[in-house]
Amino acid sequence: MVKETRFYDILGVKPQATTEEIKKSYKKLALKYHPDKNPDEGHKFKEIVQAYEVLSDPEKRKTYDRFGEQAIKEGAANGGGGFSTGADMFDMFFRGGGGFFGGGGRSDRPRHANDVVHQLKVSLEELYKGTTRKLQLQKNVVCNKCEGKGGKKVESCPSCKGVGVQIQVQQLGPNIVQHVQTTCGECRGQGERISPKDRCKQCNGKKTIPERKIVEVPIDKGMQDGQKIKFAGEGDQDPGVEPGDIIVVLDEKEHEVFKRSGNNLIMRMHLELVEALCGFQKVIRTLDDRDLVITSLPGEVIKSGDVKCIINEGMPQYKNPFEKGKLIIQFLVNFPATIDPAVIPQLEQCLPPRDEIMIPNNAEEVMLVDMDPNQSRRDSRSEDENCGRVQCASH
Ligand SMILES: [Zn+2]
Ligand SMILES: [Zn+2]
Repeated sequence: MVKETRFYDILGVKPQATTEEIKKSYKKLALKYHPDKNPDEGHKFKEIVQAYEVLSDPEKRKTYDRFGEQAIKEGAANGGGGFSTGADMFDMFFRGGGGFFGGGGRSDRPRHANDVVHQLKVSLEELYKGTTRKLQLQKNVVCNKCEGKGGKKVESCPSCKGVGVQIQVQQLGPNIVQHVQTTCGECRGQGERISPKDRCKQCNGKKTIPERKIVEVPIDKGMQDGQKIKFAGEGDQDPGVEPGDIIVVLDEKEHEVFKRSGNNLIMRMHLELVEALCGFQKVIRTLDDRDLVITSLPGEVIKSGDVKCIINEGMPQYKNPFEKGKLIIQFLVNFPATIDPAVIPQLEQCLPPRDEIMIPNNAEEVMLVDMDPNQSRRDSRSEDENCGRVQCASH
């Protein structure tokens, strides 16, 4: 299961699509919506390129499938996780074009190392009561042995001349070329090279080393599914740039009894017919383990589908937890499958009387049978052709 499908939708492919299918669809769409051909579709074109940028990269695609678009945006840094190379690419595309995209979508944040994004499953009880969760993460820290230099003698990468990127020109169609900027494979975007013998022994020339970190994540009362808790500057480190953030994204687990809708909780309650007609008492166990008793007095009737609520027994408001939403209860009444005909006269005495009906002289007596939706679909054609009357469905 993927978290979101927008990028797949943009490229018109299914989430299970192969890399080859994605590429094929991208080429077709990029050609169709290219600004040279379709100057009014700049936004659409940008979306197509962005979607492709993510889905064509196995790592990014995996992140997107699990955590969605937001995670990709937040992972954007140093050509590491997100759209940053894409943004550069657009600058190249539309240089001199009068700011086609107006620089939208770029944040004011200075260049920084990768954010560490982690999804944390939380129960509805935890979101109701609030708690602290310990989370063990792995992040990259600057190597202390070489102080982030990677080795003794560092020289410029001959492959990319120290720029860290290579530019390829792709022919998309007649008179349309696309400049694609890719990370230099030789130096992996670093722009520099250290000969093996000079490499730092501790980080093997990578400048950073992985480190385990335990963070304590405060789950406040009333937090929501998808809410992000940010630990600024606690993410990956890279020499020479600001560290990234740790971003914990809450993932609310489904609850057996309660469904959440904003600050309201919704539950279904089954009643026996006798309870619906003659009154009842029921106990509801709350998310903080209290027992609430609800009463329907004799004389009140609850119909199947009726909705009632208890004020201030929903979810607490985030940052204002003494205010709570409603607990909404939808009643479903279990009707008996059959009734002993012997008791019917007594029942009839208790229940509101029937309406009297007048049967016209020429009325036709027909059979009432159980409805099977699949069966009636199969029959519908012959029904139309033959007689078109409901009567025929009982054949
Ligand atoms: Zn080192
Ligand atoms: Zn290079």
